[in-house]
Amino acid sequence: MMAPFEYHRPRHLEDALQILARNGRQIKILAGGTDLVISMKQGLFEPEVVLDVKGLRDLAFIRYQPGAGLSIGALATITQVATSDVLIRHFPVLAQAAATVSGPNLRNMGTVGGNLCLDTRCYWYNQSYSWRVSCGFCLKKDGTVCHVAPGGKLCWAVYSGDLAPALMTLRAELKIAGPRGERRVLIESFYVNEGRAKFDLRPDEILTEVFVPPASADCFGSYQKFRIRGSVDYPLAGVAVVAKKGPDGRIHDVRAALTAVNPAPQLVPGVNSVFGQQGAHADLMEEVVRLALRSARPLKTSASTMEYRRHMLAVMLRRALSALLGG
Ligand SMILES: Cc1cc2nc3c(=O)[nH]c(=O)nc-3n(C[C@H](O)[C@H](O)[C@H](O)COP(=O)(O)OP(=O)(O)OC[C@H]3O[C@@H](n4cnc5c(N)ncnc54)[C@H](O)[C@@H]3O)c2cc1C
Ligand code: SF4
Repeated sequence: MMAPFEYHRPRHLEDALQILARNGRQIKILAGGTDLVISMKQGLFEPEVVLDVKGLRDLAFIRYQPGAGLSIGALATITQVATSDVLIRHFPVLAQAAATVSGPNLRNMGTVGGNLCLDTRCYWYNQSYSWRVSCGFCLKKDGTVCHVAPGGKLCWAVYSGDLAPALMTLRAELKIAGPRGERRVLIESFYVNEGRAKFDLRPDEILTEVFVPPASADCFGSYQKFRIRGSVDYPLAGVAVVAKKGPDGRIHDVRAALTAVNPAPQLVPGVNSVFGQQGAHADLMEEVVRLALRSARPLKTSASTMEYRRHMLAVMLRRALSALLGG
């Protein structure tokens, strides 16, 4: 059952920021609610105040101008991103990633901001209150031990959003509004690789916009996602890969990013330099797979083991790379 809370739905960003500033850590931002409401029902969040930002209609936009870049408001829905003609044409990896998020109803409700600020997930955490009582609470909520790594002090719960890896390959920046004005962070610096800390976002701040620089337009590539139920499910491993093609037909600026295998989505380091080397495509691809697996630490779920997720990560990455190389 959900604990009672005070509810606000402001129409202007300034009002939203004032409500945040007044309520410190006792407040939670609600956008589409497709993740937060479930977590509140499970007792994972018990905010005294809920700030519904769906009234901030000015933040529900997608704008693209060649030479100026792409801007997406935090309140744009996942459906808008998946079906936008501009994105399908100029930023296909992002539209593809959006089209794989959960199912149609949740894509209609879910927002870009909510997707990027998704809570990390773990078999021991995303459970009902009675389930968690019977197994013992964990470090992330009310307990003192991590059931995944009992000797450690860190939480390894996994970030499972689909948009972030695609946006990482496109060198996106996030705009964040707070009482001290607006700041911008590169998307890869926004994520903290720890299951509780999660983001570089203070309790009095709101994510307002995603900006993709003009140089990232017209990259080609794909988003590959491994999940149990094709119709509606979180990724168990997700891979975005993009590149540019030169006039000589050679690819350059190759970037790859992963999701669902760490507490943060991550760029795979060193991918572009692998493709700068001489060698058979198959060997270069295996080198990138090796780099990716070096950092991937997925958790066991009710439907998969860590080993299977790592194996499928490699399969997804090989698919994305061979599509890129025309194989
Ligand atoms: C069955 C099911 C399947 C799902 N499958 C997927 C999937 O395949 N891929 C995937 O990526 N997601 C999946 N999700 C999660 C979710 O539906 C989406 O990620 C959705 O985009 C979340 O957006 P929302 O607006 O509903 O977020 P909300 O639930 O409203 O919020 C999520 C979190 O973000 C914070 N937040 C929201 N907006 C902002 C903002 N502007 N600034 C700062 N913080 C903010 C909230 O406080 C909350 O902590 C699934 C959910 C369900 C229930
Ligand atoms: S990884 Fe995090 S959520 Fe999972 S059991 Fe450990 S502390 Fe809890």
